[in-house]
Amino acid sequence: MEREIRVRFAPSPTGPLHIGGARSALFNWLYARGRGGKMVLRVEDTDTERSSRESEEEIVESLRWLGLNWDEGVGPGGPGGPYRQGERLHIYGPYVERLLREGRAYHCFCSPEELEAERQEMLRKGETPRHQGPCLTLTEEVVKGRLARGEKAAVRFRVPGGRQVVIHDLVRGEVAFKTDGIGDFIIIKSDGLPTYNFAVVVDDLEMGITHVIRAEEHLSNTPRQALIYEALEAELPEFAHISLILGEDRAKMSKRHGATSIVQYRRLGYLPEALVNFLALLGWSPEDEEEFFTLEELVRAFSLERVTKSPAVFNIEKLNWMNANYLRKLPPQELVRLSLPHLREAGLAAGELSPGREEWLAAALVSVQSKVEYLSQISRQAGVYFGRVKDPENAETIAVLREGRQVLQELLNRVEAVEPWEEGAIKDALKALGKDLKVKGKPLFMPVRAAVSGQLWGPELPTMMRLLGRAGVKERIAHSLKWAEGEGAGKGKPEKGPGSR
Ligand code: GLU
Repeated sequence: MEREIRVRFAPSPTGPLHIGGARSALFNWLYARGRGGKMVLRVEDTDTERSSRESEEEIVESLRWLGLNWDEGVGPGGPGGPYRQGERLHIYGPYVERLLREGRAYHCFCSPEELEAERQEMLRKGETPRHQGPCLTLTEEVVKGRLARGEKAAVRFRVPGGRQVVIHDLVRGEVAFKTDGIGDFIIIKSDGLPTYNFAVVVDDLEMGITHVIRAEEHLSNTPRQALIYEALEAELPEFAHISLILGEDRAKMSKRHGATSIVQYRRLGYLPEALVNFLALLGWSPEDEEEFFTLEELVRAFSLERVTKSPAVFNIEKLNWMNANYLRKLPPQELVRLSLPHLREAGLAAGELSPGREEWLAAALVSVQSKVEYLSQISRQAGVYFGRVKDPENAETIAVLREGRQVLQELLNRVEAVEPWEEGAIKDALKALGKDLKVKGKPLFMPVRAAVSGQLWGPELPTMMRLLGRAGVKERIAHSLKWAEGEGAGKGKPEKGPGSR
């Protein structure tokens, strides 16, 4: 029988879930889901200073939001639990005992100062600093005595010299490491906590992990882990190290490059479907040119063979383009539901939505749907629909109002007669107005746009007018005429405005 595939995502809860972590989680998830496998979520919280429950919760929440669920782990629990390393300390003990007993590890009493002196000495000699373990030669009696006296000791793994460790990486091929370059490393710190390299091996073993798919930065840890597997006479899992994500300047992705965490993208109003689609293409490429994938399609198409060794470049314009595409496909009700928090944050659309009002809001949002790349932009775009009257947003708009005084005056006279108050009739009325006044194009439409919205850009004019309602349009034109005649609130100057765009 084929062995069941078991993967894990093992975040350290020292901050929010970042783009890179989310991509690792996604690749693991896709790999497992496409092969009837299981996904485990394990929290690696042995760095007690930097780990927190809030970070863990934020990571869990981000994974759920992205739609990446797990079969075992923090949350659902499972047979391999507990799934927080901090709660698994009793599990590591027997493994350490075994390595100590078999001479594969030893107690080390060196103080940080001694270790630093050793490091400096090796550097001075032009050698790569690596710990060589003066404690290696301590007799069992001496060790016992010192421990009995309460001396603190770390446990070090004894790295065999003169060997090569070869990792068969599913993404990078064979990668060889010389053991002479690896010092005897700590597996249990003097405070009793396991180090990452040790805990990760024990946990992956205990949890039956068959494939370790993780970031490239862990590749250099892999020979250490392989040596521990060997010492424990355990079978190595398969490894796949996925490349770094770089910013467009080819430097490692960091805050400097903009939003790096999933929560930030969520707050900005990106859709999880778009983000997942985009993340999948960071390092993986499909067989054809297709760029749009649902999660289910990704599950079917994904393979580690098509994950590239070269670094992936995070292109925010591409993400924005992709997100805009997904946004355009949102049905009106969904658009309302997802936009409301953003509108409310901007102080718009407060209170309960009555059914009629919801329908109106849906139409208003649809009119700007194609103009936003992410939903927090929608408040600015849909702002024209809120408030009774609009002051011109800048001097250019005032100038347009002034130029178009006659158009506005005449339109105000005719608004009552437009029948019905719908796009077609509104368009016809504007055309007839232009014909009668002998103006067309910009000089006709721009003053109207400026008058009803206070700005020179925005949704389709007839649509906007229909949605503002006849009375609303009249009120706005009358208000703008005061500006056109130099009697606006600020005597021809807008009080404030974000500029012409
Ligand atoms: N806890 C590690 C990290 O967050 C993951 C290590 C691994 O996947 O082996 O980087």
